[in-house]
Amino acid sequence: MSERSGLDGHGAAVAALREAYSALPQGTPVRLAKPTSNLFRFRAPTGAPGLDVSHFGSVLHVDAEAGTADVGGMTTYERLVHATLAHGLMPLVVPQLKTITLGGAVAGLGIESTSFRNGLPHESVLEAEILTGDGRAVLAREDNDHAELFRGFPNSYGTLGYSLRLRIQLEQVRPYVRLRHVPLVNAAECAATLSEICASRSYAGQPVDFIDGTVFGVERNVLTLGDFVSEVPYTSDYTGMGIYYRSIPVRQTDYLTIHDYLWRWDTDWFWCSRALGAQHPIVRRLWPKRYLRSDVYRKLVSLDRRYGLSDRALRLRGLSAVEPVIQDVEIPVEKLAEFLEFFHTEIGISPVWLCPLRLRSETMWPLYPLAPDTLYVNVGFWATVPLADGEPNGTYNRLIERTVTELGGHKSLYSTSYYSPEEFWRLYNGDAYRRLKKEYDPDGRLPDLYAKCVRER
Ligand SMILES: Cc1cc2nc3c(=O)[nH]c(=O)nc-3n(C[C@H](O)[C@H](O)[C@H](O)COP(=O)(O)OP(=O)(O)OC[C@H]3O[C@@H](n4cnc5c(N)ncnc54)[C@H](O)[C@@H]3O)c2cc1C
Repeated sequence: MSERSGLDGHGAAVAALREAYSALPQGTPVRLAKPTSNLFRFRAPTGAPGLDVSHFGSVLHVDAEAGTADVGGMTTYERLVHATLAHGLMPLVVPQLKTITLGGAVAGLGIESTSFRNGLPHESVLEAEILTGDGRAVLAREDNDHAELFRGFPNSYGTLGYSLRLRIQLEQVRPYVRLRHVPLVNAAECAATLSEICASRSYAGQPVDFIDGTVFGVERNVLTLGDFVSEVPYTSDYTGMGIYYRSIPVRQTDYLTIHDYLWRWDTDWFWCSRALGAQHPIVRRLWPKRYLRSDVYRKLVSLDRRYGLSDRALRLRGLSAVEPVIQDVEIPVEKLAEFLEFFHTEIGISPVWLCPLRLRSETMWPLYPLAPDTLYVNVGFWATVPLADGEPNGTYNRLIERTVTELGGHKSLYSTSYYSPEEFWRLYNGDAYRRLKKEYDPDGRLPDLYAKCVRER
């Protein structure tokens, strides 16, 4: 199928989906029939039929001259990057996990090492075609009758409607990325260095196109700076026996192809493959290389959660229960050191991922109200914390929620949340949300945001 004919068939696919949506029995939960997910809320299977959205999983058209792409809402970034790199282009922000979809990153937010200069994935969307909760297919843009939906869609998590096609901006790439790993002895120095680099977009007189960081311990903070280059002395390979995050504290410089740079975190799900044994040298040798992928690990975790295998193993060994603490939070850079101090003392998970971001937009996105003109640092941590006797599940997540709010930060909603309804609607702009819900899903065909993200419906 040519790229053009992808767009041609799209109208018929939208009409068929609208019909399928209206045929779903009223009162049954609506869900997307989609082979992958990166959410970290594990709903019990409902048995309700899913909406077949398989027609919306490909890149419809790349306009290399305009630097834009028309993309089905359920297209994975793996497919999207494959299609755009063929034209020497990439999306402005490419989340790290291959099966995150463009629609998921826009409705549920996303981030990566270009976010200090390109903002968040939804900020490079020029228009979005959306199947709304009341069954319409509307085209939402910044400058049309559906501008409020366009602005309110990010962080709506499929509770106002589903994006079926998005037109996004792209940027030019060069074939390779040079990496510089910069060690910093404490969090305050790390925050100050991040601020300087993000403002000047350079370090030691050299340009910086990408920046993220890894905290291995209180005094072991490393910022990783990347810049596009056309020629390299060698390239490293972290898709087999080599493990990317382990290279960070021991190397000063490294070189990757742009493809391998974009997926550097997927092979080992950052470092989370360790808990599944995939980093043990013998297991790794036997583990087929094509299965060293974040979606494979997530499926294993999903099975574990469904059957309670790890919990049972802990009980059998007489060990205390653990609380999963899997979150990404945004902290204003001037509060980063304070947050990390709290985190090392009270939570104790390592490594921790850092990624600076600044909105591209001069105005707020209502449902995730980060302040424009402010440098935030995304702090990501994905592990478990042992519960002391009598401590209920949620103790540590709740503590993190309170601290993030006190420090003027925000918390992503892809994982578990414990907010009361009052707190939640105050933090995620209940007034704006209610207006949108009334306009685009007045009969509540889709769950509301609190029910979905906190009550896990
Ligand atoms: C360990 C871990 C680390 C993570 N790290 C990062 C990270 O570093 N950077 C990053 O960007 N993200 C990260 N994420 C979060 C991830 O981006 C979000 O969970 C994202 O929403 C997942 O998108 P998905 O395409 O897999 O969507 P799904 O998991 O399928 O769906 C997510 C939500 O969006 C809704 N949705 C899906 N498609 C659409 C659509 N087309 N239109 C409207 N709503 C839709 C679904 O109903 C659902 O509520 C991380 C998640 C985990 C578990």
